[in-house]
Amino acid sequence: MAAEPKKLNDEVLDKYELVIGLEIHAQLSTKTKIFSSDPAFFGAEPNKHTTPISLGLPGTLPKVNREVVTYAVKLGLATHCRINLVNRFDRKNYFYADLPKGYQITQDELPICKDGYVTISSKDKPSKQIRLNRIHMEEDAGKSMHDRDDKYSLIDLNRAGVPLLEIVSEPDIRSAEEAAAYLSEVRKIVRYLGVCDGNMEEGSLRCDANISVRLKGETEYGCRCEVKNLNSIRNLQRAITYEFKRQVSVIEEGGKIDQNTLNFDAATGVTSVLRSKEMALDYRYFPEPDMPPLHLTEEWVESLRNTLPELPEQRIKKYMTQFGLSESDAVQLTNDKAVADFYEEIATYTKNYKSASNWVNGPLQSLINEKGKDASELGISAKSISEIISLVDSGKINNSAATQQVFPALVNSPDKTVDTIVHELNLVIDTDEDQLSQLIDQAVNKFPDKVAEYNKGKKGVLGLFMGELMKLSGGKIDPKTANKLLIQKIESLK
Ligand code: ADP
Ligand code: MG
Repeated sequence: MAAEPKKLNDEVLDKYELVIGLEIHAQLSTKTKIFSSDPAFFGAEPNKHTTPISLGLPGTLPKVNREVVTYAVKLGLATHCRINLVNRFDRKNYFYADLPKGYQITQDELPICKDGYVTISSKDKPSKQIRLNRIHMEEDAGKSMHDRDDKYSLIDLNRAGVPLLEIVSEPDIRSAEEAAAYLSEVRKIVRYLGVCDGNMEEGSLRCDANISVRLKGETEYGCRCEVKNLNSIRNLQRAITYEFKRQVSVIEEGGKIDQNTLNFDAATGVTSVLRSKEMALDYRYFPEPDMPPLHLTEEWVESLRNTLPELPEQRIKKYMTQFGLSESDAVQLTNDKAVADFYEEIATYTKNYKSASNWVNGPLQSLINEKGKDASELGISAKSISEIISLVDSGKINNSAATQQVFPALVNSPDKTVDTIVHELNLVIDTDEDQLSQLIDQAVNKFPDKVAEYNKGKKGVLGLFMGELMKLSGGKIDPKTANKLLIQKIESLK
């Protein structure tokens, strides 16, 4: 058990900087496993997806699943990697009960993808590229459960042989926030590509963090620890924050950081030593003799490049340049592919891209969160949203009626047209200028002292008059015209 980090003041902490490299394992959503035709999906009854290859029985031979190679190339292209047209599987040897063969088939010296990068944008900071060292293909091990039985550890081999891509970053990450932004960007990319569901709670995306600290200005890296078992973005951040303080306090006390493998306990927020350097395993990597190297063709890789969907990074650029949105609006819209797709569909019906963005990031996003559904499953059509936008823009209904009455009615009866809803609710603004002037007279007469306040420079009281007008008209006035006439009237009383 690691000692609780000594209390450090901000001044001491501020002398140091974090250096972090992440290893992310993405479980692929292929139908079958990487070297056999066993189903690869999560959640089956234990030990059902276990033909002799998954069990590692003698005499069985692996055969690579073409879909896994396809997914690896897609992810490599999406993250600007070089694709190694010749790449190879290796054996990583270690003994553990959930690894029936006694070795894991992975890629060591010749991984399928090399040298890419992922662009991250964290709040209020310019975007930054995190370089990737490699992406390689490998098989998952089975799952050991040590807490289900008093006497025995239980093993489920359904997961043995499920395909993984391991995405290894360079140590370019400098804070817990950047680490979180990077992990969520990778999750977005695998989801956009449809290669992994990105579900961290179910273990589809798992993350190990290599963490070191050094004095600011120092060019050499410090000695790192590798924290295993990080199953959420929040825990990744907690582990980094904890390790930063722990490592700084060890160094400040004149100690040295040992290159250990650590476990993170989510309940206590503390890391502890899982394996010390002395216990480090020698995996005796060597080329997998049962499979020849993979030879890919340039044409095949290029044909996959053409199938790539537009990724968040490209969409953000497009939304900013073509649709004139702010970066934060664009980032928010692209967090989820289904949401971004829905936004783009609205944008085919309206030119008011900003309003469309407000609708999607506001009421639609709230509805998605509330229902726990995908944007495409809400039953609301992009066309309906565009119709509401155009009714507001043309002054036929006002914005608060649109958000507070039309939208909720549409949610309840998505099959009704917006036109029907607006008429049923009697929301069409039909107050003509004469009527409006009369209402303004009424409002102004009601609060003579506020008129005087306005004319002395207290412009804020206008809200009160607008509220009164809305009340008097039942919401059926055009706020822009009302605002203009109201000011004219009040100023004429100076
Ligand atoms: P290994 O061969 O032990 O797996 P690698 O060189 O492959 O080590 O690095 C594994 C991960 O550790 C990479 O993500 C890399 O960016 C990161 N890393 C390497 N050195 C450091 C360091 N000094 N501090 C933080 N992270 C590091
Ligand atoms: Mg490694």
